[in-house]
Amino acid sequence: MINVEQGKVNLLGMTLPDMESFFASMGQARFRASQVMKWIHQRGVTDFELMTNIAKDLRLQLAEVAEVRPPSVVYEHTAADGTHKWVLELDGGSRIETVLIPDGDRRTLCVSSQVGCSLDCSFCSTGKQGFQRDLTSAEIIGQVFIACRRDQGDAPRAVSNVVMMGMGEPLLNFDAVVPALNIMLDDWGYGLSKRRVTVSTSGLVPMMDRLGEALDVALAVSLHAPNDALRNELVPVNRRYPLRELMAACRRYLQRYQGPDGGRRRITMEYVMLAGVNDQPEHARELLRLLNDVPSKINLIPFNPFPHAPYQRSSREAVLAFQKILQDAGLTCTVRSTRGDDIDAACGQLVGQVQDKTRRSQRWQQRVAVQEISGGSS
Ligand code: SAH
Ligand code: SF4
Repeated sequence: MINVEQGKVNLLGMTLPDMESFFASMGQARFRASQVMKWIHQRGVTDFELMTNIAKDLRLQLAEVAEVRPPSVVYEHTAADGTHKWVLELDGGSRIETVLIPDGDRRTLCVSSQVGCSLDCSFCSTGKQGFQRDLTSAEIIGQVFIACRRDQGDAPRAVSNVVMMGMGEPLLNFDAVVPALNIMLDDWGYGLSKRRVTVSTSGLVPMMDRLGEALDVALAVSLHAPNDALRNELVPVNRRYPLRELMAACRRYLQRYQGPDGGRRRITMEYVMLAGVNDQPEHARELLRLLNDVPSKINLIPFNPFPHAPYQRSSREAVLAFQKILQDAGLTCTVRSTRGDDIDAACGQLVGQVQDKTRRSQRWQQRVAVQEISGGSS
């Protein structure tokens, strides 16, 4: 949170209680925290000078010790279907991607939690890049901050839903992700309802329990296979937390918050459709048995190919046949539409071509160079 160069505290990633302690440590009233949070997250103000309900000398004092600094926007683009993508540069020069997907009344922001990922799922290009570093809470919430920028003329609720489905495994960056989620939910922050904030995990069982203890948000599990042999291959972390343990963790997560309505909540099971690998009718039937006692809905994701990927996207017929088997058995099963393909920006499929040296990424980098926008984001 401390910017070493300038020695300033970045208030962007601070939760309300942390900010209250910060103001208390300055000998100030705690209610300053909610005022400042509102300026930052609801009005998009980064300059303390503009926070006019704060006394002048406190504003000057704040400017000396603190800052509100989101990542810099190095590239942004809107696809033909309205999907908007930002490439953001972090301290140290790493780049991440954030995507906003409009769909009717919904505006879903797909947020990254790490640069790269250490878990190496076989179909994921983020995994293929390896792990670079965790994002700070300021860098995570900074993605929401940027997507809500008021100076872009967006409606006040510029983001209606957040899914932690960008780059990285959010539960491996728990200590930064949880504060960022709290700011998304906080009425002084973005005031998003807990049903509209989803954490997606590859299935880190102990961390799923910790998340359940810390927060009540929607959970998505990257399942991708109905048995351990296949899942070991696709999602290697399955060797540590096999399906039986994963399903038990899903049930615990749901039970924790079952309300008086009898727990209508369900886990979203993500299932990337890989031609001839996990998309056959017998896989669907095995999946039915696996999910028998876990309230869930299934989201079939068309595989997003990347250079040297060892898989192909399943045919439309295979996806529909798979979906029908699940639906006929009474399960909710949706097929994710591919979005923003012309800018490589489908949610959950951010490929980070900035990092690799394939021909596709070189073409893309040339585009970035042409369209590079100046001046960061504040
Ligand atoms: N690490 C977390 C969240 C980020 S990945 C997780 O694994 O859940 C977000 C989603 O995108 C996951 O369901 C992931 O399996 C999926 N995904 C990754 N690579 C993909 C690809 N090439 N095509 C389609 N979906 C992909
Ligand atoms: Fe990491 Fe998720 Fe990609 Fe697996 S799918 S490598 S957990 S980002």
